[in-house]
Amino acid sequence: MPDTYSAQALLDDKDVFAKLTPPAKLGVFGDPVAHSKSPYFHNAALKASGLDLQYVRLHADAEIFSQAVKALPEAGFIGANVTIPHKQAALEAVDEADDYAKQSGAVNTILVQDGSLYGFNTDGPGLVRAIREEFFVDLRDARVLLLGAGGGAGRAIAVQCALEGCERLVLANRTFEKAAAMATELGQYFRSDRLIGPADRCVAVPQTPEGLRTEIGQVDLVINASSVGMKRTDPSPLPAALLTANLLVFDTVYSGGKSRLVEDAEAAGARACNGLPMLLHQGALSFEIWFNRKAPLDVMRKALLESVA
Ligand code: NAP
Repeated sequence: MPDTYSAQALLDDKDVFAKLTPPAKLGVFGDPVAHSKSPYFHNAALKASGLDLQYVRLHADAEIFSQAVKALPEAGFIGANVTIPHKQAALEAVDEADDYAKQSGAVNTILVQDGSLYGFNTDGPGLVRAIREEFFVDLRDARVLLLGAGGGAGRAIAVQCALEGCERLVLANRTFEKAAAMATELGQYFRSDRLIGPADRCVAVPQTPEGLRTEIGQVDLVINASSVGMKRTDPSPLPAALLTANLLVFDTVYSGGKSRLVEDAEAAGARACNGLPMLLHQGALSFEIWFNRKAPLDVMRKALLESVA
């Protein structure tokens, strides 16, 4: 079981992580963070790449998060990942962020270079790779129904769909106003006659059985970016009766094995998978940002699967 440290340690003693064996020069900030699977596959990747350093969990509450991030250069870190609930604050904490991170409003990967902090978001690109690998489909070719479009992951995925120029994007969210605002914001990316037919290319619907029923026949790929499904007892965010065999169903939730959504989709004859491939690929992309080389994907996949077995 990899160790979890308080991020306060970064502020108390700048050398504390450099003194570990091997020295810790990478980590993941979160609150909570003890459940994070990232150390398993990143440490396996570091070992396989002959890099004598380690990746640790860094528990940071909102009060110290930004200060701890700013302490990374002094502490000799190469970079870090950021998870719930700090991805939005990370965008503010870095010196510069790339365009996708700015537009998605969140940073999940920090690179330290020449004393400065650079922010990236690998969630959207990680999802693209995961969908290609699992379903042999490019996001840009899909008509997408995005559940939970108003959350942090939902926003990152919606922006990715827009930048990829996917065929169609249906944004659904429990709080409908957030999905509607997103559709207004992203509408500019969908202004073309690419799709022949009566349906608008970017629309928002309430995440209700009625709202979803009107759109399910005009999408190919359902992505759940809501947090429904994280608990084993959670219901599915999409009524089982709406699932059909022609759909591809990607649930970004990865805790607790198969979610109800994945189970229902498979029972309907659809191809479905949980969020582990996205977790893997966002991590591989972080590795590539830190080391400017291809990540040892097979080693990382094996370590991730062993950690959840
Ligand atoms: P978040 O910002 O808190 O957003 C939560 C989303 O879920 C919002 O859209 C929220 O709707 C919706 N929601 C919450 N409870 C609901 C309920 N009872 N019924 C319907 N909708 C509900 O969280 P997040 O950071 O985006 O994370 C969301 C999920 O994405 C988590 O399961 C996380 O594990 C997953 N994720 C996976 C990966 C990966 O690599 N696989 C990466 C990032 C995130 P409202 O707007 O109405 O509140």
